[in-house]
Amino acid sequence: MANQDDIFKNTISHSKEYGFIFQSSEIYDGLSAVYDYGQAGVELKKNIRDFWWKSMVQMHQNIVGIDAAIFMHPTTWKASGHADAFNDPLIDNKDSKKRYRADVLIEEHVAKIEAKINKEVAKAKERFNPFDETMFRSTNARVLENQKKIDEINTRFKNAMEKNNLAEVKQIIVDCEIACPISGSRNWTDVRQFNLMFSTSMGSVSEDASVIYLRPETAQGIFVNFLNVQKTGRMKIPFGIAQTGKAFRNEIVARQFIFRMREFEQMEMQFFVRPGTEMEWYNSWKQTRMNWHKAMGFSESKYRFHDHIKLAHYANAACDIEFEFPFGFKELEGIHSRTDFDLKQHEQFSGKKLQYFDSELNQSYVPYVVETSIGLDRMFLAILASSYKNEKLEDGTERVVLNIPPFLAPVKVAVLPLVNKDGLPEKANEIFSQLKFDYVCQMEEKDSIGKRYRRHDAIGTPYCITVDHQTIQDNTVTIRERDTMKQERIVINQLATIVSEKASMNNVLKKL
Ligand code: ATP
Repeated sequence: MANQDDIFKNTISHSKEYGFIFQSSEIYDGLSAVYDYGQAGVELKKNIRDFWWKSMVQMHQNIVGIDAAIFMHPTTWKASGHADAFNDPLIDNKDSKKRYRADVLIEEHVAKIEAKINKEVAKAKERFNPFDETMFRSTNARVLENQKKIDEINTRFKNAMEKNNLAEVKQIIVDCEIACPISGSRNWTDVRQFNLMFSTSMGSVSEDASVIYLRPETAQGIFVNFLNVQKTGRMKIPFGIAQTGKAFRNEIVARQFIFRMREFEQMEMQFFVRPGTEMEWYNSWKQTRMNWHKAMGFSESKYRFHDHIKLAHYANAACDIEFEFPFGFKELEGIHSRTDFDLKQHEQFSGKKLQYFDSELNQSYVPYVVETSIGLDRMFLAILASSYKNEKLEDGTERVVLNIPPFLAPVKVAVLPLVNKDGLPEKANEIFSQLKFDYVCQMEEKDSIGKRYRRHDAIGTPYCITVDHQTIQDNTVTIRERDTMKQERIVINQLATIVSEKASMNNVLKKL
């Protein structure tokens, strides 16, 4: 059986072969961690964005959207803390010349010790029946020793980061004897802080030009427009402002395909609430967002919450929705209770009041904020990786199929005239013209029907409709379903109903 690494590699090459994702500027050997979406990818990405937008904005009376500019006044990033603190600690190995995030090296080292503990527990589980895991973990000498190591490293690292003590961060790497995975050596440089924001200059004359940043998150565009939207939209608390758009981060270690990119798209919603009610809303948004993910129809075991223990200074609760990618459980979406930190910072730096008059309380206050923030590209990867299947069929042949949730599939219906004559293409064209208003459809006339089915399996088209000579006589067609490969003869005027059952986004939205 192929291992996860191979499957992931195959998924990446499949996504290129079928027009989902291309490396940016490939003819110039590519630009690292920047990607372009092709003809199939752009449709899937748009459908995910639409699904998010409809479920967040259209389905809620009290959530509206905006589209703020990528460039913002530079003071925005002073106020938000990004100018001073949006840093990753980095370290270079002098032999391999490879650069690493110091925090990631330490986390990976801790994960290895954790794996040892888990192995010990698994071994004992096999040996003893009944088995009390809590008791075992709190008494077994080897487990206790390893747990002590983990606690010590975590405490040292937390203290070092809080005090910005980079020499101590390096010392932890030295003390843990962490080696470079490439060179195997422990020949490390000092640790330095590296700001992740990209900068450029605005203005035509270099002396007058001022440094501006490409936004590292979309959220600040919402915060600075909070009052504009509240006043012009006559919004009453609790209410939300949603936005989708590009964000840019000069990631040091950009790996794992579109999981960590330097240019990516976020879908964020800031929900403004009465102070004191934020935990209620935080818990309710956690659930709402998890339900959204489960509507994809993948196995529920692929999702889990990861509550943050180390909270950012502005947050009073935070968690990630983690997804089981081919390289393990990783963050897919963040849900954060951000208190009134951002609005207060913008008040302070702009000198403008950003308050809401609550007529029920007869009182003005700076609202608290609960944020939901998901990466569109990461969501794309979650869908792509979970949908890719290499199936062995009963007749001994194989097919590659993408079981993309039908309502998100790039092409919903392929219309295939059996032969390219006898009036069949014209009939197929009629069907295409009927369905094209509601669905992205494709007409395909070349190659055998079998090959055309395979091509559409490979891009995840839920339905193929074959037009043959009988169609001309009795207005019936064959409809083939992607996952079961079952074929059925139906009359043309049943098509829209059958396709809509699975492929219409509205049906999924209704169940949320
Ligand atoms: P990570 O810990 O993976 O760097 P983060 O905690 O910095 O992510 P947030 O700032 O909370 O991420 O951003 C919200 C969401 O934006 C993430 O859950 C993720 O889906 C997405 N995201 C963040 N950075 C990237 C990136 N470099 N490439 C693609 N998506 C990203």
